[in-house]
Amino acid sequence: MTFSRRKIQKKEAAFKYMDYRVIIIGCGPAGIFTALTLAENGIDGVILFDQGNDLEKRERGAVRDVLCGWGGAGAFSDGKLNISTEVGGYLSEFLDKNALIELLHSTDGIFVKYGAPNRVFGDSAVSVEEIADQARLADLEFIPTVIRHIGTENCKRILNNMRKALDGKVEVRTCSQVQSLLHEEGKIRGVKLTGGQVINSDYVVAAPGRVGASWMKGEADALGLTTMTSPVDIGVRVELPATILKKITDITYEPKLIFYSKTFDDKVRTFCMNPYGEVVIEENEGITTVNGHSYAKRRSDNSNFAILVSSTFTEPFRDPIAYGRYIARLANLLGGGAIIQRLGDLLAGRRSTRDRIEHCLTRPTLLQATPGDLSFVFPYRHLQSIIEMLQALDKLAPGVFSRHTLLYGVEVKFYSNRIEVSSEMETRVKNLFAIGDGAGITRGLLQASASGVLAAQAISSRITGIRPDK
Ligand SMILES: Cc1cc2nc3c(=O)[nH]c(=O)nc-3n(C[C@H](O)[C@H](O)[C@H](O)COP(=O)(O)OP(=O)(O)OC[C@H]3O[C@@H](n4cnc5c(N)ncnc54)[C@H](O)[C@@H]3O)c2cc1C
Repeated sequence: MTFSRRKIQKKEAAFKYMDYRVIIIGCGPAGIFTALTLAENGIDGVILFDQGNDLEKRERGAVRDVLCGWGGAGAFSDGKLNISTEVGGYLSEFLDKNALIELLHSTDGIFVKYGAPNRVFGDSAVSVEEIADQARLADLEFIPTVIRHIGTENCKRILNNMRKALDGKVEVRTCSQVQSLLHEEGKIRGVKLTGGQVINSDYVVAAPGRVGASWMKGEADALGLTTMTSPVDIGVRVELPATILKKITDITYEPKLIFYSKTFDDKVRTFCMNPYGEVVIEENEGITTVNGHSYAKRRSDNSNFAILVSSTFTEPFRDPIAYGRYIARLANLLGGGAIIQRLGDLLAGRRSTRDRIEHCLTRPTLLQATPGDLSFVFPYRHLQSIIEMLQALDKLAPGVFSRHTLLYGVEVKFYSNRIEVSSEMETRVKNLFAIGDGAGITRGLLQASASGVLAAQAISSRITGIRPDK
């Protein structure tokens, strides 16, 4: 969808705006795709703010740099683009299936334009159907998704290309934190930066990501916007020899599998599979958790993935994030950080030790985890569900339930409170848009980026008075 530039220029002659037309908060994928789309539509007077560093200054080892700055949480991510209406967010609640598929494909096309590899996984209907059949026999539901894998080392190059494309079209201010949103009579009028500077604008797009979720919730409460709590997903990162999952990962790259645990009927799912990847430590507001990623070219001998158990709480408890953090903190208390345990030790009711890990047939890719006992960390409900899921997976891929399978704990996925928005991503405050993971609308790179495209198209239409050409 593009706007005709000639028509825009005609309209703009009669238009006057304040300091800026559009302020975008957050330079993650959601904010960047908002800016790219506005620039593509010929909209000027756009500024992006991010509290973190510009791309070339971001260092993987620095806690703050991992999630903040140009590229947001996407900068050091694995770069798996899930071209699926079912995965990575809730945009399917705003668009019908065909419109969403079209949006996801065109957003994915922008990643390719800026350098994402051409190859996709999971597009062979016959092989995917075979996996789905085998999964059914193992009591698992297989969610087919087409995936483009960018790879950690390529993310930076693509983000840099996007940054360059915006040079001279959009102003970018890094190391600038937005402290609050300013509004007047139900309409947004700009932002106040930490330090006190006030910047006026006609539109504000808030895309603060997971890292800015508490800030977003505070601003939403101050503006009287409706928010809903999200579930918390708690589990382990599983690591095993890549050969065990090779048949499946060669076809799908990342199989999305869902299981309902026998004992508790809890929803358990696989998440973020990294064939030939590495397990990594993640620091999140003072707690240490685990994650995984893989490079496009550099390969380990192992694959890793998370098994997550979803917990939704009802009255009176409304703080799933605090619950997740509490469990992660318990692992940190016992292990001084993340804990590693062989499945065989867990099942035998004993801790793993350095010695036991050393003669484990799966060689760990993460060396900073402390050998310990995850049964001291997880509630029975979670541990039982994880074990049952591993047993089901073993039927699909024999070898998963081996005593040499490694479990790292804990992996926690906190999701932001969801802010009520329209199908254009506008909140009840006029001209204030809330998008991406920070608004609880999305949970992944592609849908976060697509939510930015949606907001930018709505703003472009209002500024120019022209609906986008199909
Ligand atoms: C290690 C890791 C691996 C991942 N791998 C994948 C993957 O393979 N595939 C996938 O789909 N997803 C993956 N994700 C998730 C993905 O990165 C996010 O879904 C996506 O980045 C969300 O985009 P966003 O723009 O909404 O937010 P973010 O990318 O989090 O960006 C938000 C930005 O806003 C800034 N900000 C926040 N508050 C303020 C403020 N008040 N003022 C100024 N700036 C502010 C932050 O500094 C940040 O730069 C991964 C995440 C991590 C952490």
